Amino acid sequence: MSEIVLYPSNWLYNAGVVGFLHSLQEVEKIQVEGFLKEDGTVVLPANLFAQLNWDLRYFSETRLAAITGQAKIYRNYWQPSWDKSAFGAYVAALENLRESSLHSCSVCGRNFEIPEPHLQALVQRFSFLKTFLSGVSTFDVRLNMMLAPSIGEFPNSLWNLRSGSCVCPLCSFLLVHQHLSFLELIDSDGKASTSVFVNAPSFKVMWYLNRLVKEVYSREKISFVRELLGVSLIEFAMRVNAQLGMWTKMNIEVVSWKRDGTIDFYVLPYQVADLLLDWRVASLLSDIGEFSVLKMVLEERFYEIVELGEKIMAIGIKRKNEWGKQEKAYINQHLRLSRNKDRPDNLVNFASRLFSLYALIQEKQGVKGNER
Ligand SMILES: [Zn+2]
Repeated sequence: MSEIVLYPSNWLYNAGVVGFLHSLQEVEKIQVEGFLKEDGTVVLPANLFAQLNWDLRYFSETRLAAITGQAKIYRNYWQPSWDKSAFGAYVAALENLRESSLHSCSVCGRNFEIPEPHLQALVQRFSFLKTFLSGVSTFDVRLNMMLAPSIGEFPNSLWNLRSGSCVCPLCSFLLVHQHLSFLELIDSDGKASTSVFVNAPSFKVMWYLNRLVKEVYSREKISFVRELLGVSLIEFAMRVNAQLGMWTKMNIEVVSWKRDGTIDFYVLPYQVADLLLDWRVASLLSDIGEFSVLKMVLEERFYEIVELGEKIMAIGIKRKNEWGKQEKAYINQHLRLSRNKDRPDNLVNFASRLFSLYALIQEKQGVKGNER
């Protein structure tokens, strides 16, 4: 195969692929956008694997994945006594991957294998590669120290993956990049508490959305998963979505990996994703800029948008020196941006944007109602 086509699968595999793309950009400075296709797949040139700087990637001080010995995530993946150039030979051999009809990989659902002559050549050169390849061909601590012991407890998304199930040589490699896809959220006490990854049925969407999530987080430090996803989707709609319209009707979920090892999934309701990915709704919400309003949309409390608008309008038509204590408290409770609240005319403008937003939501819901 001169090209290897990868289809989105369960979240762990998806995170592995997205993390690998990230590593290509970081280490080999390869522009990966061209590998991301409109149909949601990733198409990798097979000769890419022979070009990887494996020493820098996995064995240097600045390595992007620790795989040797007592590594934190990929425990005993590679033995310290093994010649590291053998790992380079294994990775390079992935360019010869073929699909067979023999085994089905429990991670990607495909049947990739290194053809027998190439496999024999590898093992002849480095006999211990036989031990390595057989070790990473089942799902255990080598492929994920945190996940492997309790894999059966996560029915959600990891559909057919069980501890001990069969893993193909491509997934054995891709999975050591999954951690690169996750964003660490820092607690109020300054510690990393949760890592998050946005999972979707398109690699292109995952690539851009996870990048936006990281960008939004570094700018706004929103540590609530739902709000972080909400703001990221708004930016996605305004900046990327034009080419990705067909993917707006899909499941988007956030995988949250907590420090204690538990994993949560937040699935964004379809109708909310549909709203946030509408360019007009996204622009209005971005213009409004208030979390209180975004939360109403995320929680589908649409009528509260009108109620807020009416109350703010009633205050805005008064002079500022006529605002009572309760009115000021109400404003401060719901609005944080001074451009929205510091003058009566700002309040009036803010309220009219809320009415426009509500009308737009109604219009979109009306259109959907007619479609049914
Ligand atoms: Zn596989």
